[in-house]
Amino acid sequence: MPRIIVLDENTACRIAAGEVVERPVSVVKELVENSLDADAGNITVAIAGGGLESITVVDNGYGISQEDAPLAFQRHATSKIKTAGDLYQIGTLGFRGEALPSIAAVSDLLIKTRIRENNEGYCLNIRGGKLIEEGPVGCRIGTMVTVRELFFNTPARLKHLKSKATEIGLVNELLYKMALINPGVGFLLTHNGRQVFQSPGSAKLLETVAAVYGVNVASVMIPLEYEDNEIKIEGYIGKPELSRSSKQQITTAVNGRIVRNLAIHAAIEEGYRGLLTVGRYPVAVLLLKMPPGMLDVNVHPAKMEIKIETEEKVLSIITSTVRKALGEVNLIPGFSRVV
Ligand code: ADP
Ligand code: MG
Repeated sequence: MPRIIVLDENTACRIAAGEVVERPVSVVKELVENSLDADAGNITVAIAGGGLESITVVDNGYGISQEDAPLAFQRHATSKIKTAGDLYQIGTLGFRGEALPSIAAVSDLLIKTRIRENNEGYCLNIRGGKLIEEGPVGCRIGTMVTVRELFFNTPARLKHLKSKATEIGLVNELLYKMALINPGVGFLLTHNGRQVFQSPGSAKLLETVAAVYGVNVASVMIPLEYEDNEIKIEGYIGKPELSRSSKQQITTAVNGRIVRNLAIHAAIEEGYRGLLTVGRYPVAVLLLKMPPGMLDVNVHPAKMEIKIETEEKVLSIITSTVRKALGEVNLIPGFSRVV
């Protein structure tokens, strides 16, 4: 008797979900990334019960057509790439076509979505990967996704979660960073109906820095800029006296994607060399742009890790840009305007 069987789609999907959906914040990240990919200018995230009761993300992006809506819940179904070749030129945050089916596999998910060309929208309810209901619905242009009872069918995962306060804290951190790297998008976060955070979406990075860190911090941040024919950097860095005891306040993004890259962090810290004591880290927001062809983002399912071609060069540009910005406010003696 053969021992090997091909798993059915629902089981395969639940296994894949384990990689994409670790906890409530992973759901928020995937849904918000979809909203950003849909060119939303406003994104509202409403959480209840630390995310386990419900997570709702509403955007005013371009929506999904009736005919595409069911497809969005099939694994490896995406509108963002067509061929493996496109993997080398990714300009969107998503591309794996895994998030929606994975989330729907481990929750009760309701989506209402409408494209500009239609007078009405379309609605689907999927629970534990099974379609419960679908049909036309009245709604605004854009997309609303509500995820209820996260991990109801994966008790092991549920047991693993920390307190509601921890989970909402993680969502908060994520939205701070999402707002900082997308200053043109207005974010609103509520927990149990109460507003937790709002960013202006004015496209002015300093105004978002003020929304996240407060006006006092924003008023002493140092602007930073670099541009050559490939790489562009903009951002704000804190004076050394604003230093913190954790690296949490360093936000770096490459082409609109949050990255946690130790080498990039180290390059920023190197720029502060001699100005920070051991164990202290700067407040910094660095938004990098480079041609998609220089990046490999297909390294990890959560897509937080990326590989940069010519990394050494990029790192040294980061260090010198930070150093120059600090020099221009005379924090580095003799440095001002020498470089
Ligand atoms: P991916 O983002 O990797 O393509 P997802 O499973 O996250 O995969 O989404 C599947 C598809 O559903 C997307 O490619 C996109 O076409 C559509 N989609 C999902 N969320 C939204 C949204 N908020 N607005 C418009 N389209 C969306
Ligand atoms: Mg996606």
